[in-house]
Amino acid sequence: MKMNKPKMASEKGVPSTSKVQILLAQLEKMTGDSMVRDPETSRQITSKLLHLIQTQEKTGKEVMSKGTSGMEVILSSLESTRDAQTILNILCILSELLTLGKGRRVGVFVSKGGTGVLLRILISTSKEFHPSEELMLQLHSLLAKVGPKDRKLGVKARLSGALNITINLIKKNLQNVKLLLPCLQVLRVYSSNMVNAISLGKSGAIEIMFKILAPYSKKNTSLLKVAVDALAALLKSKTNARRAVEARCVSTLLTLYMDWHRNDTWHRHTAIRKGLLGCLRNITNTKLGRKSFTEADGMRILYNSSSECLTVRTLDPLVNTSSLIMRKCFPKNRLPLPTIKSAFHYQLDHALASGPVAQLYSQPPGGRTNAHLCIEPLKKVDDVVDDSDDNEDTEADTENDTENEEDEKDCRSLNDDIEKDINKLHPQKSPTRPFEELRVYERFFVELSEDFQDYTFDCSTTSSSSLARTPRTVLVPTAQALSTNDVTTQTSSVLCPPPKDPHYSTPAPLPPPALQLDTLRFSKERNKREEVAQDLSHALECVALKSEDSLNMDKQKGSPISTQKVAHSPLLLEGIAIRCLAGGGGGSDCGSEGAEDEGAVLEVPDTAQLLPLHDLDLYVDMVKGTHSVPQYTEVAYPDYFGHVAPTFREPLLERLYGVQRSKIFQDIERLIHPNDILDKIVYDLDIASCPVIESDGESLKFNSQFESGNLRKAIQIRKYEYDLVLNSDINSNHHHQWFYFEVSGMRVGATYRFNIINCEKSNSQFNYGMQVLMYSVQEAISGRPRWVRTGADICYYKNHFARSSIATGGQKGKSYYTMTFSSSFSHKDDVCYFAYHYPYTYSSLKMHLSKLEAMRTPEIYMRQDVLCETLGGNSCPLLTITAMPESNSNDHVCQFRNRPLIFLSARVHPGETNASWVMKGTLEFLMSASPLAASLREAYIFKIVPMLNPDGVVNGNHRCSLSGEDLNRQWQNPNAELHPTIYHTKSLLQYLAHTQRAPLVFCDYHGHSRKKNVFMYGCSLKETIWQSSISAASSELHEDLGYRALPKILSQIAPAFSMASCSFVVERSKESTARVVVWREIGVQRSYTMESTVCGCDQGKYKGYQIGTRELEEMGAQFCVALLRLKRMTGLHNHQHLLDLESDLIGTQPKVVSSCPTTYVMDEDEPSFLEAVDYSAESNDEDGEADNEAGAGSREIPETPDLRPERPSDPESGHGAWKCGPVASQ
Ligand SMILES: [Zn+2]
Repeated sequence: MKMNKPKMASEKGVPSTSKVQILLAQLEKMTGDSMVRDPETSRQITSKLLHLIQTQEKTGKEVMSKGTSGMEVILSSLESTRDAQTILNILCILSELLTLGKGRRVGVFVSKGGTGVLLRILISTSKEFHPSEELMLQLHSLLAKVGPKDRKLGVKARLSGALNITINLIKKNLQNVKLLLPCLQVLRVYSSNMVNAISLGKSGAIEIMFKILAPYSKKNTSLLKVAVDALAALLKSKTNARRAVEARCVSTLLTLYMDWHRNDTWHRHTAIRKGLLGCLRNITNTKLGRKSFTEADGMRILYNSSSECLTVRTLDPLVNTSSLIMRKCFPKNRLPLPTIKSAFHYQLDHALASGPVAQLYSQPPGGRTNAHLCIEPLKKVDDVVDDSDDNEDTEADTENDTENEEDEKDCRSLNDDIEKDINKLHPQKSPTRPFEELRVYERFFVELSEDFQDYTFDCSTTSSSSLARTPRTVLVPTAQALSTNDVTTQTSSVLCPPPKDPHYSTPAPLPPPALQLDTLRFSKERNKREEVAQDLSHALECVALKSEDSLNMDKQKGSPISTQKVAHSPLLLEGIAIRCLAGGGGGSDCGSEGAEDEGAVLEVPDTAQLLPLHDLDLYVDMVKGTHSVPQYTEVAYPDYFGHVAPTFREPLLERLYGVQRSKIFQDIERLIHPNDILDKIVYDLDIASCPVIESDGESLKFNSQFESGNLRKAIQIRKYEYDLVLNSDINSNHHHQWFYFEVSGMRVGATYRFNIINCEKSNSQFNYGMQVLMYSVQEAISGRPRWVRTGADICYYKNHFARSSIATGGQKGKSYYTMTFSSSFSHKDDVCYFAYHYPYTYSSLKMHLSKLEAMRTPEIYMRQDVLCETLGGNSCPLLTITAMPESNSNDHVCQFRNRPLIFLSARVHPGETNASWVMKGTLEFLMSASPLAASLREAYIFKIVPMLNPDGVVNGNHRCSLSGEDLNRQWQNPNAELHPTIYHTKSLLQYLAHTQRAPLVFCDYHGHSRKKNVFMYGCSLKETIWQSSISAASSELHEDLGYRALPKILSQIAPAFSMASCSFVVERSKESTARVVVWREIGVQRSYTMESTVCGCDQGKYKGYQIGTRELEEMGAQFCVALLRLKRMTGLHNHQHLLDLESDLIGTQPKVVSSCPTTYVMDEDEPSFLEAVDYSAESNDEDGEADNEAGAGSREIPETPDLRPERPSDPESGHGAWKCGPVASQ
């Protein structure tokens, strides 16, 4: 049937408004039978209407204006007419109407059922013998226009049979560009529905798309763009992807892509190029696709083309998509390890019946000593490569990126995790243990029964310790007052010439080796030993203290005061177990000979003034009593020399544009140019002779066989690049995050790249401004003993090393993550250390405690008990600190005994060294001479377990104890043998509960690796119920808001503390943590976990800076000050008076207090939201695939995890501070 084009009727002179209404009214009248009976009239009316709309814009507005029925009338006419010309007229009217007015008109059209009408007409038209091409064209144009707005179009089209009409039309009209274009547009919309895509695939849609796209031609580019997008949509279906692979489409796509890459010189068709990559991306979601891609040399092709695109910024989307495809297709590897189980094994006496550890060691190697080096043979337990991600059956599923799934799971579990059992939210009333069992703990509370009758309360008399007489003031650390005078005026000197000792006349070359305790004395290789001794003494004899703040003081040279101190070498250590190297012929005699006194006199820096709590000799003494599973005999320099926080602030690192991409490209290069890769193992704990790998000057030397060290393997990849593998926690096969290792043999000026390749968390603060810590021995002996934030080009991303499902708790197909950083070294022959966070060893703790004890004044009551021995044979200290009673009068002793208790603990997680620094601040404050500290001691009795997991700390674990378990998940049922520190700490608390002396505050110090600032988790019945949406009687909701007081005070006085990050919700996954158990079982309302960031702050005074030990120690001190405030608030009613008083006392932040007096109303706050897990920014690598709705072609999903500048106002620069989520709920 041949039709005329719609004719423009014209009738001039009549106002259009009335005309339109008249026409619509006429049309409405005709709807139904008369429409069929009188096609001529309907043709005329619609033709007039079309003309009006085409010529006068306001007519369209009138038809579409709100409250009118214009669209209904038009649609019902369309449905009732059988006349092709009328239909065409109406389609043209719709086309005119829907072109304008943005999306709203289309929305109206869809909401009135317009798409259904179009589909019906499409079906009926197609049934005609010769369907009108013009009609088909108009129908498809309209469907293409409205389709993306109708989420159900795909389903409607499939059910009505429209899919095949379109596909057949395309097949028949491959040369008819005019008709082909709208058909392809509709096909693109249809294909975004996964079921449609499969159905279309069966009908040959993929082959047709290839006929359109290939071979390369620049004709009809807009058509090609639509075709490529449609193809990409079709290929989201795995069935289609496999179909495409079988039809050898991967190489066709690659060829096409390269044709476009070469010929699109002016980058006018990047959309087509991106579409082609989109096709490849979807195909490679299948295993078959990846295989085909690699076989077709896809890696090299995309690598080369991307490299050529790197210089043109507008081509970034191409590079990013290419990179994503290459990462996906990068063959999965095992970690280069014989087993992922820890290189060290600790034989438990008490066998674990079940659990992951039992599974891991179901057949422990028996019969040997309790602790020994054990290299397990490769077992199936480790078997790793499992990328069977495509399951043939679950086709209709969308292809989520696994990480997004993980994130969703996280979000879901966050809500699922809230404790909903109301019984578990109430304090447990009945005591669980008979008092008889707890009575033994009485000995840890002698202060509660002490009568002080034997004490003389005269300050002039001496006590047992002579050192205790020294009236030394401990400076309360405050990072805010980074004054120069307290540090810089103390010491200042120049480097002194080496003493003329004839024995060491020849200046031996640096570097100083690691402080190997037995080397000097016991090594059999005499020459080597002497050399080492010379090196070391030379290194150390030059030591003189310079002003700590070199930045300032180097310029204004103060008076040179030599502060040298002659000390006996701490290196000559007797009685410590000798590490016998299996490869070196070591035996039982390897400790008996050597020149005893040679090199015994060394000059060491007098850090005493800088570090009043540090003592080098004492440190070594402490190390002697520390027991490690690998029986370490070396002391790392940083722990020996100590750390003085730098006086400069260390800002969060700004991440440069494209860092991650360039790192990933370097990784991909390993595959493209395998011959450039050295793959040279330079450090390997799994071989017995470790670390004896001959240094040839071409490689760095690594070491981490010292307390808290945990490097397992180092592999030189390129001249200046190393892959590093961390050791798992002892008796475990994962928990890699903490690291601490030594490097030497570096070249000055070279930039080294280090990759820690077996990280596990899916995101890291290393992506948001955090740097690693470095300690230079050369700097230390020049008077700057300190850890500094260092490293450039830092990023954290998923790599191609597959994780065993055993180590992921059953999840398959997971990968490890790489943390990469670059560093250069400024001193020749230096020994440098890198760490995840400021190290704080168990030996450091013992040294600090000993120094603290020595500072006790007669006013201070301080006692150190051994709470218990750990599995590894280390003692767990328990401290009691309070003030002595004023006299031994009844009243005073009574006041003494009745002081409320504060119970503190820290470092249950060994990798959270920040917790120890906070604890150090607390302890130093408590022992200090400040009037605030004195008031605090008079107000409370402090019970402190400063290190709940000494074994984990000693052995370089990140999370666990020697039993391979997280001790902070054992509080409900601690086992006396396996978890002694938890068992006995809990017993102490149970004892207190029994004697009605439950502490006023319990707080366990932790470190947080994903969030910034310092914050607290507490327990609130009410807030948990609010969050969990469980119904509870209002009577159950009575709760004293006292639990909010302490964090609130902290948010006012401690600059690093953020109230907004606090949460008081009880989670099910945390039901066996200290916080929840102490709250529920011991009945302590103020039971907290205090989390300190490893990274830095994004609020308050320290906003934009990384956290340092000064800030952490300050936090510990401020915690004490807050307790004093809490005391005053809970003890008296006139708060405002006290605030003023305290402002005077505290003196640090009077402004804050006076400017916001209202913040003291504790109950005004709404409970904070559950903080979303801040994983949102993690590599949205393979994202966007979940999108199942219509209009996929019109959505752009950012593909670079890399790029998320904080300030969107500055999109040009590509720079910006890197901010961590949560995006959703800030
Ligand atoms: Zn922790």
